Amino acid sequence: MTSLTSASAGRDEGLDVSLRPSGFSEFVGQAAARANLEVFIQAAKQRKAALDHVLFVGPPGLGKTTLAQIVARELGVGFRATSGPVIAKAGDLAALLTNLEERDVLFIDEIHRLNPAVEEILYPAMEDFQLDLIIGEGPAARSVRIDLAKFTLVGATTRAGLLTTPLRDRFGIPIRLNFYTPEELVLIVERGARLMGIGMAPDGAMEIARRSRGTPRIAGRLLRRVVDFALVDNASEVTRSVADKALLRLDVDARGLDQLDRRYLTTIANFYGGGPVGIETIAAALSEPRDAIEEIVEPYLIQQGFIQRTPRGRMLTALAFQHLGLSVPQGFIG
Ligand code: ADP
Repeated sequence: MTSLTSASAGRDEGLDVSLRPSGFSEFVGQAAARANLEVFIQAAKQRKAALDHVLFVGPPGLGKTTLAQIVARELGVGFRATSGPVIAKAGDLAALLTNLEERDVLFIDEIHRLNPAVEEILYPAMEDFQLDLIIGEGPAARSVRIDLAKFTLVGATTRAGLLTTPLRDRFGIPIRLNFYTPEELVLIVERGARLMGIGMAPDGAMEIARRSRGTPRIAGRLLRRVVDFALVDNASEVTRSVADKALLRLDVDARGLDQLDRRYLTTIANFYGGGPVGIETIAAALSEPRDAIEEIVEPYLIQQGFIQRTPRGRMLTALAFQHLGLSVPQGFIG
């Protein structure tokens, strides 16, 4: 799943840093989430207290990490980042927690992938800012309680349903991030082009924006590749035709669907008559992990009206057949 438009963090991320907004004023879109966060941050600062724990939920590349960093910066506190699968043992989390200073932000990406033993010690840490550790083994084992600084945990996950209920319930500020509109992505592309020092025509920015799967990370990635094509072609600015040519070469179609998206749709159309078909079957047919399909491929296809999730499985819509240039099978009720 490292295609150009899959939103999972990849090799480009190092370069990406310069495009990352550093404050709310540079952060485009997610107006409701931003407005609420600004109020809660202001209130926490006035109270001189740690911000309540925040959970960001949404597909990859929509700005969860960026927002976590902005939250810390706006609060004027330290920021530490880790991710669920990296924290292997309770002791790893204990080391992180005991190093936090008062009101610091601890960001845990992919928090749904925490090991259950680690999650257990996170509960009292989040609720009472205490750590209960077992020291030693067997009859000599004893439990010690350590007081922690009052910190803010910012968790990120692709789907809230993946979290256990006790963990989910401990976040006072749950925030769902949505796909961006093309107009919002235009602003992100234009800002990126400015930072990269390349001319961007309005129709060029719109072309990239429309094909970015509603995702800023993809917009940034496509922008870089389009700029490469423009430079090699000696184009002084990115126009619609420059963008279009580059994106076609990159196999991103007019709706922003990449190869895997189209393979997903054609598999259901050609082998399963448009569905319904179960997710396990689709995953096996595509040789891709089920999680990746559910977290990366499907959310955008659903949002764009290409597929429906039904109790009996996934079904294509008439729009999907149209997009693939196929006729809708007789008697198909999608
Ligand atoms: P997530 O943590 O949700 O996977 P990130 O916060 O890492 O996503 O965002 C991916 C990239 O997209 C960032 O490096 C940043 O450059 C860009 N980005 C995300 N959200 C925005 C936004 N609202 N405005 C501008 N750029 C954004």
